[in-house]
Amino acid sequence: MFTLIQLPYAQDALQPVISKETLGFHYGKHLQTYVDNLNKLIADTEFESLPLEEIAVKAQGGMFNNAGQILNHNLYFMQLAPAKENNAPVGRLAEAIDATYGNFGNFKAEFEKAGTTLFGSGWVWLSADKDGKLVITQETNAGNPLTKGLRPLMTMDVWEHVYYLDYQNRRAAHLQALWQIINWEEIERRYTEG
Ligand code: MN
Repeated sequence: MFTLIQLPYAQDALQPVISKETLGFHYGKHLQTYVDNLNKLIADTEFESLPLEEIAVKAQGGMFNNAGQILNHNLYFMQLAPAKENNAPVGRLAEAIDATYGNFGNFKAEFEKAGTTLFGSGWVWLSADKDGKLVITQETNAGNPLTKGLRPLMTMDVWEHVYYLDYQNRRAAHLQALWQIINWEEIERRYTEG
């Protein structure tokens, strides 16, 4: 039985980047629905007692879609924090981003390009491969880098439900604004502890 994660911030804390209204729908309605659906689908099956990560890798069809969406949204919501000026990566992750992409500006440009060129619904990810090397990938619908043997570090949701209320069709503007509310301490923790 899975439950809705608790947000580590108030529902108006990410404004003006993400409105209270968008967060209310995204977290309170969309994510809650994925949780409710998955609980119904796994009841009395071999997946009932498995951790979410395993279901998201092993399951197919509706079970994969709902488990993947919960996993993705949990990682997404837990990596956000109130907006900060000059928000930028920290520690060993900052060093790895500079070593891989040249500098944070280049990294942001490459990540945003992956987000704007992903056709339809999906997620853009920063992950680490088995050697710790950073990679950016696009995943459609409920896709997750775990299925490719990668360790997810940071993600941006590019489903329309994320940006339509606040940015209408301007996906690129939403992605650019999101950098203000990324909790780099949390991403660094995922990178160094994984
Ligand atoms: Mn979403």
